[in-house]
Amino acid sequence: MKITDIRATPVTVPLAAPLRHANGCHWGRFVRTVVEVETDEGLVGLGEMGGGGESAVAAFNGLKSYLLGRDPARLEEMRFLIANPTASLYNNRTQILAALEFACLDVLGQKWGVSLSEMLGGRLRDRVPFASYLFFRYPNGDGANEVRTVDQLVQEAADLKREHGFETHKLKGGVFAPEYELECYRALAESLPGDRFRFDPNGVWSTEQAISFAHSIEDVNNDYLEDPVFGMHGMRRTRERVRMPLATNTVIVGMEQLASNVLHTAVDVVLLDTTFWGGVRSCVKAAAICEAFQLGVAVHSSGELGIQLATMLHLGAVIPNLTFAADAHYHHLMDDVIEGGRVRYCGGTMAVPTAPGLGVKLDRDKLAEYHEMFLRLGNYPYDQDPLRPGWTPLIPNTRWADPSDARVPSIPR
Ligand SMILES: [Mg+2]
Repeated sequence: MKITDIRATPVTVPLAAPLRHANGCHWGRFVRTVVEVETDEGLVGLGEMGGGGESAVAAFNGLKSYLLGRDPARLEEMRFLIANPTASLYNNRTQILAALEFACLDVLGQKWGVSLSEMLGGRLRDRVPFASYLFFRYPNGDGANEVRTVDQLVQEAADLKREHGFETHKLKGGVFAPEYELECYRALAESLPGDRFRFDPNGVWSTEQAISFAHSIEDVNNDYLEDPVFGMHGMRRTRERVRMPLATNTVIVGMEQLASNVLHTAVDVVLLDTTFWGGVRSCVKAAAICEAFQLGVAVHSSGELGIQLATMLHLGAVIPNLTFAADAHYHHLMDDVIEGGRVRYCGGTMAVPTAPGLGVKLDRDKLAEYHEMFLRLGNYPYDQDPLRPGWTPLIPNTRWADPSDARVPSIPR
């Protein structure tokens, strides 16, 4: 089998409301790039990458001369072809490789008549548990769905639990001062007794703030504290002084960093992102290393549509040492580009697809609709806050948002 074409289509899919984070905001929508790899046998595989636009289309088109005529089964060779670690000093294509790997695996699964999880060693579980992944949110254009106050956060968590059945709740912080976010996190935990919790300020605290926060939540049913500070050494210094696991999706996103963490441990739980790690297979390899060294693993979310979600589900299905619920931004989405629309949660879990390959198909009408939306709205600055023009977040940050600021951002839609 040979690759005969590669297509990249940027899409914009609306969110229930703008999602606030330490570096800015998802401005009420996700921009993603849907990738299709076509073969001489008529099979088409699906991939997905974060962000998008003309630059993403150009990046995938630029790789056609590398990949057309190649066998999609030669995935390990493809890794060195387009993401060789020394060549990556000039062209870092790790996330592009991930999208292409998803698509090639999808092709191979269709050809062989097996699902991706069967190709990766077989499902150990048929459903993957997820956390609720709560964000502070600006109101949407209708003035609805704001999460800013303690009461709004507690209500949102209760609503999500009732609708989807989550038993684990992640709060994305780093937006407001740590003292206010501590009040929010504690109120959230008190409102859902018996459930589990995790907090992630995206690495913007000082080690002293991180240590103080960790001491103040010791009585909470914490899975872990995620990226309280930035950098391996900051994490290690924090870890020496706190009594709960630390997790990361930022300072360990490759084998070099994982090896360093084994030799000189700074992190207890490695959050595996199928995009950041350059594909599903490298996540499975990393999980095996974590298994050998008894480090925890979980499935990370970098903001997915249904194609990437499928890779997360297959990954979650085959990792023996998956002892934590996965993260997904997915329930904030208003729609999806796959056939059947949005995948449903049941009891806080999602079923692992069983059809060949990734097990999802493109809804061509939705793809066209959301490509049109991308063309109309363009990209958004992920690392800017719509209500704080000129703001720059420092690390450690001191320039926090004001929780009493109830303004509604004006965002085209
Ligand atoms: Mg994180």
